[in-house]
Amino acid sequence: MADIIQLLPDNIANQIAAGEVIQRPASAVKELLENAADAGATEIRLFVTDAGKALIQVIDNGRGMSETDARMAFERHATSKIRNIEDLFRIKTMGFRGEALASVAAVAQVELKTRRAEDELGTYLEIENSKVVKQEPCACAAGTSISMKNLFFNVPARRNFLKSNAAEMRHIVDEFTRVAMAFPGIFFSLTSNGQEVFHLEAGNLKQRIVQILGSSYNAKLVSVNEETDYMNIYGFVGKPETARKTRGDQYFFVNNRFIKSAYLNHAVNSAFEEMIAKDSFPSYVLYIDLDPSQVDINVHPTKQEIKFEDEKIIYAFVQAAVKHALAQFSIAPSLDFTLNPEIQGLDAVSKPFTTDKKDAASSSNLFKTFTQKNQAHFIERNDQREKSELKHWKEFYNPADTESTTQQTERALPQQLQTSGPKPQTGLRVLPDTPLLQLHNTYIIASTNSGFLLVHQQLAHERILYERYGLAAHGQQMATQQSLFPVTLEVAGSDAALLTDLLPDLLAIGYQVEPFGNNSFVIQGIPADVLPGNEKHAIELLIEQFKHFSSDIKFSKREKLVRCMARQQAIKAGQALTQKEMLVLVEELFTCNSPNVTPTGSPTYLEFKEDYLDRMFGR
Ligand code: ADP
Ligand code: MG
Repeated sequence: MADIIQLLPDNIANQIAAGEVIQRPASAVKELLENAADAGATEIRLFVTDAGKALIQVIDNGRGMSETDARMAFERHATSKIRNIEDLFRIKTMGFRGEALASVAAVAQVELKTRRAEDELGTYLEIENSKVVKQEPCACAAGTSISMKNLFFNVPARRNFLKSNAAEMRHIVDEFTRVAMAFPGIFFSLTSNGQEVFHLEAGNLKQRIVQILGSSYNAKLVSVNEETDYMNIYGFVGKPETARKTRGDQYFFVNNRFIKSAYLNHAVNSAFEEMIAKDSFPSYVLYIDLDPSQVDINVHPTKQEIKFEDEKIIYAFVQAAVKHALAQFSIAPSLDFTLNPEIQGLDAVSKPFTTDKKDAASSSNLFKTFTQKNQAHFIERNDQREKSELKHWKEFYNPADTESTTQQTERALPQQLQTSGPKPQTGLRVLPDTPLLQLHNTYIIASTNSGFLLVHQQLAHERILYERYGLAAHGQQMATQQSLFPVTLEVAGSDAALLTDLLPDLLAIGYQVEPFGNNSFVIQGIPADVLPGNEKHAIELLIEQFKHFSSDIKFSKREKLVRCMARQQAIKAGQALTQKEMLVLVEELFTCNSPNVTPTGSPTYLEFKEDYLDRMFGR
């Protein structure tokens, strides 16, 4: 009888291995984004078509690859990040199995363009079914662009297994969000079917969190920051009022990599004990850094589960750090925060600690341990305590975990991506039949179901216009009214170049401006809802503002334009408004995605809740 055992051909072996790493479009997204971050990029753009089923492309401005490396990168176990087994334990960069690109190449049609800054020409590679089908030099930008088309085109069983576009897109947004949170210093964008849905300017950690979780978090984050010899923990937890009935926004990063840990999650929950309802979940974004030899991230193929050398210490540390932060917040509610002191004054302090709880928190063992710095390793192992605090943690771990983490980002999804139509409820309802009141021609008072709002008309209108122009700039072009008497505009030479550059963007938001030679332009049309008359001034002002756009964060051209236009066109404080105008303003404000702040973070309204008012009057 003939022998029957055969070696699998390479491409089949690769496909099988790929199954571990690339389970769905989102897994490829994660690997490509991490590679770009590992390559030292400062700008990373992700493009997907059909939720990644048709195309996933990542463009970075990182260090690029040499011709040989470009080819090597797709071999299995090809990595520039590990040389020997010790490295495995030392490594701090994120991807380190040398499997991702090989896996991607096994299950998709891959095109790579890459160039190192020092090389004149880059390399173009086409790979299909693990085979290089084309390789040639190419002129391209420094950095790397990888696109993978038709994921699982050669593994129909897997392709058929993919979920709806909406579901796959949610997974992609999850992964995108996690990588973006881990690298606030990197610019990230996500464009889906040609529409940019995330545009995250580089900034600090708090800015990034607010960009992603929404500006309503701005005044509601408590910073956590403890350093010891053994480990550091930093990041933010949401104030108790941000706790949700569904698993909230909960993110843990260990050595800058997103992980899921029911155990650590329990540590945070327990720190919130008695501050939030039993069945609700606190929000947090926490980063733990510790000696990489103390963790083994590789235990799980998709690398989200993690093993700590000594997880009890980590548990105690996380719990204590969060408790400490919360205790500080309750004693000194105005700690840390940079923005919106008014709003903070209303909401933040609305649930103060009772003295009893405060005392209990600050007299606990763990709290004391951390009031002296660098003491994490001295936490005594009190068996009694461990039992009481640890016995329930398993209950938190349920298989539904993964589902609920996907749900959680739904809220952070830009509206156009949401599957279920209406956007998240703020719970705020302006009463329809009560008259509005204008104060000092600046503020509008509107009754709500639970109190009243003090709306700042100019700031509110700025938010409305910002979102309207934003949509226009990203595809939904605004209606233009043709001018009966086109106005000519003459500008300085340097401004002419700038204006020419802006013409397409201006058109998107409704300004039809055409070059007329010799630094002159003709304004042929203006947005349908702008009163004719001062269009010339508007454009001049725009150029001026645009030039002096003063902000250390760099925005894209469109973003700047949209911001300038919104600020410029907003009705001003001091202008009298009719009932009708006020009503439209307030109603439009609350159809916005982020009604409560201007693009620059000032509050657009203050909310006075009945219970707050009652308390003010000692009721
Ligand atoms: P790993 O990231 O585990 O090393 P990958 O298969 O993801 O394995 O990548 C293989 C190698 O290809 C990396 O080690 C790196 O040297 C190179 N590489 C991948 N993506 C990029 C990129 N965007 N820019 C520069 N080099 C890259
Ligand atoms: Mg990698």
